[in-house]
Amino acid sequence: MNTEESLRECDGEMPAVVDLDKCDGCKGRKEKGTSMCMEECPVEAISLVEEPDPSNAPMGREQHAEINAEECTDCEVCVDVCEQGAISMVEASE
Ligand code: SF4
Ligand code: SF4
Repeated sequence: MNTEESLRECDGEMPAVVDLDKCDGCKGRKEKGTSMCMEECPVEAISLVEEPDPSNAPMGREQHAEINAEECTDCEVCVDVCEQGAISMVEASE
């Protein structure tokens, strides 16, 4: 993967967003405190929010991903790595 090339084409006008009905926080795939998307984002635009009550959270997740649209460069790496299909790109004006 050529990260520099993909970053060059990014303009921040179509940031990634997380569908909170689909994100399971990479439960069973990653340790708490990290995730596929967070590890792969080249500009560290993704953070994880801890669920205060996992037993009542969707899919019993302990955490969910959050994307900082200001930092996102639209590279779509996270869309490709999310096994839940929880990340998509949206128009920045929405
Ligand atoms: S958005 Fe996808 S890759 Fe990111 S934490 Fe949620 S399930 Fe994992
Ligand atoms: S689209 Fe790229 S820059 Fe934006 S959050 Fe996903 S991995 Fe990070």
